[in-house]
Amino acid sequence: MDLYEYQARDLFESHGVPVLRGITVTTAEEAGAAAKELGTPVVVVKAQVKTGGRGKAGGVKIAKSPEEAAEKAGEILGMDIKGHTVRKVMIAEGADIAEEYYFSLLLDRANRCYLAMCSVEGGMDIETLAEERPEALAKVQVDPLVGIDRAKADEIVAAANFREEDRAKIAEVLVTLGEVYAKEDATLVEVNPLIKTADGRIIALDGKVTLDGNAEFRQPHHLELHDIDATDPLEIKAKEKNLNYVKLDGNVGVIGNGAGLVMSTLDVVAYAGEEFPGKPSPANFLDIGGGANAEVMAAGLDVILGDEQVKAVLVNVFGGITACDAVADGIVQAYAILESQGIEPKPLVVRLDGNNAELGRKILDEANLPGLERVDTMDGAARRVAELASQA
Ligand code: GDP
Ligand code: MN
Repeated sequence: MDLYEYQARDLFESHGVPVLRGITVTTAEEAGAAAKELGTPVVVVKAQVKTGGRGKAGGVKIAKSPEEAAEKAGEILGMDIKGHTVRKVMIAEGADIAEEYYFSLLLDRANRCYLAMCSVEGGMDIETLAEERPEALAKVQVDPLVGIDRAKADEIVAAANFREEDRAKIAEVLVTLGEVYAKEDATLVEVNPLIKTADGRIIALDGKVTLDGNAEFRQPHHLELHDIDATDPLEIKAKEKNLNYVKLDGNVGVIGNGAGLVMSTLDVVAYAGEEFPGKPSPANFLDIGGGANAEVMAAGLDVILGDEQVKAVLVNVFGGITACDAVADGIVQAYAILESQGIEPKPLVVRLDGNNAELGRKILDEANLPGLERVDTMDGAARRVAELASQA
């Protein structure tokens, strides 16, 4: 999960990383009040969107009075930055910047360690720096079992060639950023720019943090950081039902068991769809897992049928530990559950293969469910569902 800048700021603050005060608001009026509350001669109005390069796009503006802050916020709110609509702005204390540096800590999977990157030349687009002047970007491996202790921080600031007199202060901040990374189960902590102010303080001015979703079981407070407003409502519903669901753009609902099978089903449906008018394509990824019982099947169908874009649904199951007859029973019961909830069915193509396929098919045939068709090959089922979606 990527965090907004203001969330990264708050997280930094809670771990002792020096940051400036900031107040996040959603209207121009509140922006003016926030600037007044901060009370500094200069504030910065910053678009809160989960993408970089806000400055260049006009999403970071300096204001010298509460009135000006309100005006600038009015300009920035609603702005589109690389496809992200600005709904919130942070009003931050203005900094008197003497120098801008770069620091990041990320997961280096190939080398099974963390990688710290640091440069005395921050502020600008780091990809450009890495390409044009790679020697200006220090890269230091960090042992995950040790993290950034003082010795490692000293090594990083030396590798980045900071002036001798600045090194100790900067190293101290890097230790706190390493703590954010380790204690919050982050996979990325990036500060660009890390600044030195005119009066010599080191401050993290802009933070980007990615948290490891797999660590949520031991980081309950991360749940509050989820961006409910920007999350697809169907994905929220699926998450509440503990389903592995990802919304896609097409009109063919897809349910399968096993991530690999579902991934290939998406490919086969997209391929089959090429032949039909309107080129039907997958509307979602949904893996109901190995032990797919009736409730899980009903929950999955419920989410998919709730998607207005869906015109037809493909259930593609390869019976394994959960045999096809159990899956077929699940589909029959799911229909009953959905009917009792007044949820309208849509054309449904079912492909069952593997363990007890014959028995499963027989159960479906005998149930004679409205709109349900059985096709026994994956390609055939994909073609049929694409055809149905195309006709709808
Ligand atoms: P980004 O463009 O999305 O990375 O947004 P940043 O928060 O990094 O801001 C972009 C640039 O705006 C920074 O590199 C600074 O040069 C400038 N900037 C941001 N905040 C301040 C501030 O408080 N004072 C001054 N003088 N410049 C700022
Ligand atoms: Mn930045």
